[in-house]
Amino acid sequence: MKKQLHAIFLTLATCLGLYAQQPKKPNASEIYESIKKLNFLGSVLYVAAHPDDENTRLISYMSNEVKARTAYLSLTRGDGGQNLIGPEIRELLGVIRTQELLTARQIDGGEQRFTRANDFGYSKHPDETLQIWNKDEVLSDVVLAIRQFKPDVIINRFDHRSPGSTHGHHTSSAILSVEAFDLVNDSSKYQEQLNSTTVWQPKRLFFNTSWWFYGSEEKFEKANKSNLLSFDIGTYYPSKGLSNTEIASLSRSQHKSQGFGNTGTRGSQMEYIELIKGDMPNDGSNIFEGINTTWTRVKDGEAIGNIMKNVEEHYNFQNPSASIPQLKEAYKLIQNLEDTHWKTIKTEEIKQIIAACAGLYLEAAADTNHATAGSSVQLNIEAINRSNANIKLQSFTINNTKTDKNVELANNVNQKFQESLTIDSQQQPTTPYWLTSKGTLGMYQVDDKSLIGKPETPRTFNVTFNLTIEGTPISFTRPVIYKTNDPVKGEVYKPFEIIPEASAKVAEKVIIFDNDEEKQVSVIVKSGINNLQGQVQLAHPKGWTVFPEKQTVNIQHKGAEQTVVFTIIPPKHQDEGLITPMVHVGDQIYTRELIEIDYDHIPFQTVLLPSESKIVRLDIKKIGQNIGYIEGAGDVIPESLQQIGYNVITINPENISEDTLRYFDAIVVGVRAYNTVDALKFKQQLLFDYVANGGNMIVQYNTNHRLKTDHLAPYKLELSRDRVTDELAEVAFLEPKHELLNFPNKINEHDFEGWTQERGLYFPNSWGKEFTPILEMHDKGDSKKKGSLLVAKYGKGYYIYTGLSFFREFPAGVPGAYRLFANMLSIGKEDIKTDNPLND
Ligand SMILES: [Zn+2]
Repeated sequence: MKKQLHAIFLTLATCLGLYAQQPKKPNASEIYESIKKLNFLGSVLYVAAHPDDENTRLISYMSNEVKARTAYLSLTRGDGGQNLIGPEIRELLGVIRTQELLTARQIDGGEQRFTRANDFGYSKHPDETLQIWNKDEVLSDVVLAIRQFKPDVIINRFDHRSPGSTHGHHTSSAILSVEAFDLVNDSSKYQEQLNSTTVWQPKRLFFNTSWWFYGSEEKFEKANKSNLLSFDIGTYYPSKGLSNTEIASLSRSQHKSQGFGNTGTRGSQMEYIELIKGDMPNDGSNIFEGINTTWTRVKDGEAIGNIMKNVEEHYNFQNPSASIPQLKEAYKLIQNLEDTHWKTIKTEEIKQIIAACAGLYLEAAADTNHATAGSSVQLNIEAINRSNANIKLQSFTINNTKTDKNVELANNVNQKFQESLTIDSQQQPTTPYWLTSKGTLGMYQVDDKSLIGKPETPRTFNVTFNLTIEGTPISFTRPVIYKTNDPVKGEVYKPFEIIPEASAKVAEKVIIFDNDEEKQVSVIVKSGINNLQGQVQLAHPKGWTVFPEKQTVNIQHKGAEQTVVFTIIPPKHQDEGLITPMVHVGDQIYTRELIEIDYDHIPFQTVLLPSESKIVRLDIKKIGQNIGYIEGAGDVIPESLQQIGYNVITINPENISEDTLRYFDAIVVGVRAYNTVDALKFKQQLLFDYVANGGNMIVQYNTNHRLKTDHLAPYKLELSRDRVTDELAEVAFLEPKHELLNFPNKINEHDFEGWTQERGLYFPNSWGKEFTPILEMHDKGDSKKKGSLLVAKYGKGYYIYTGLSFFREFPAGVPGAYRLFANMLSIGKEDIKTDNPLND
């Protein structure tokens, strides 16, 4: 699956030159568009909750057609979603989705911001969301984003007036945006922010409505639209050879981890926004009406506007460098502006335009992508001017140290330099700044307040090229990168990053002991240097025994790994805790795990997290031995059941037959199998026959949207969208004497402790009288749900349907989830109890 996605993306990326990692090389048309953008001084901030919530059509339209500075403020990084392209979940998925948003913005021309809010999973109501998030901190971050970005107009993706109608994060994003609109200009609010920014008042706030919010297209047609602005966002850009909607699809298709590949459309298409705050423009398609968006907006800007108007009118598509003398004059005037906000923004824009007009290429490549604190790397520096402009390289600044060069950059003569870069011995390793301290369920902890809102950790190592262009000093800063040639992909860029001398991880994240026998545990040590010599210990909870106490590691090559094995003896009773490998090198102790995330559509990511694995001693009994597993959308049922001693065989659905099924004590169907596996449509009767002959069949959650079969169960069973998102919600036993709650494990309330993210989802809400509901639970303020665990006798066997989130609880090593699942597998098998040697 992953390979296939890569292959598809490779083709797309190669056609469009869209590798996220590569430097931009604008052509003459793109330069011209940037000049037009330089001459527009207006800003739009789009606000929603998750990566993929944003309307890329509107963002692209504002950025490319209106030419406004456009940013998307996503309150979260999308950690709570599912990953369709790889194994990363939670904070690592948040890292991927952050980069997917940045790549999307490179395509649609927007900027990207975040708050410290964590996407903790589904939430039904903003009241719940705003309790789990620290409302004041998130509001503060929204206020900060507005004060820093200074938008004239804010557009919310969601409606703040309809709590409960969508994800609580969605409505919360709109509520906070509306609240912030009235606070940002008040200097008594979030005063500490005013040390680094200033108050600001946006002029208007809109809600990005659509027919969908009205229930149907017909209803929307008839609705009163006097409060709505509309734009035709299907506009065509000859300079790009693309419609706005085609750009939007390319941008949206970067949400690959969510499977949001999107096909471009062409032709006129209307987009609507509803005024929430501020005055209604008379022109129903101009959100900037009454706002000065020309250079006269800033004091002393008029002269710049006059020069730039001239540059725009006389731009030479055959020779963009002809504009350099005038651009240089505009650059000088911009340096004198008192308005530091626009000065900073427009300086950066005009520098990029000047560099592009001159065909100026500046790069600093390290000879390695990874280095450690205290080491030195070689930098290969390239500087070339591909125009007749008079450009001189005066000096480099590296690590605050200036080296004079005084080299003429003559037209198309490549200048190469080698410099050495020394990494400070106290330099911290590279990692996403929001993951360096432990946060809460709802919030990231960011200790360095200057980083709040930034999409990613700013690059530590840069080279500044101090040039004179036509006699005017202009400096360009480039991050140090690493590049290599891949025989298949060609030129591949990677960020240059600092890693620790040693990192380590336990091979498995959860290790289950289903009895008191010892287990061997592998620890993988990775070296960041040549000739690493050290010793590894395994920190562990009391009551557990680990031996030997220390293992020696000796790794010759930087980047290489060595595996050492420890033996762990669990306690006699049920218990759980964490183990952490500690690598001693000299007087340093390294306790973190180095995670590398490598996909073609986003830059290579290095993440350092505390190295931890969970160990669980389970008090568990089980009947039956051989489990057949039918894979759905992907869960860890096979590994998890193997950990507690079952023999699990994955069955190809095409091969389901009376003969193959006979072998198994129980069949477990993976999550959403009836949404994703076509073959199951024709195999249901065989599975039901297997149950009738004495087998157990356990079906995990499916959604009622696009079910492959009308016969999910041998009896009537209707799925709903009922879910219990509070993982602490009380669980009542409807049938306390039922076998499922008593055999072979006696289930009690402790078995529902320590659950993660939610209780379960997509519970059935209507079923035949043959089913017995076992549990009842509900979220605060919601009705009681009885459909989380349903069991029915069918012939000699049992059919069980469960929306309980075993797929989340197993990887988190939740003991009660394992004990209850063992009962589900064991139901009806009292008689064969003695056959199983694994039971004590
Ligand atoms: Zn969302």
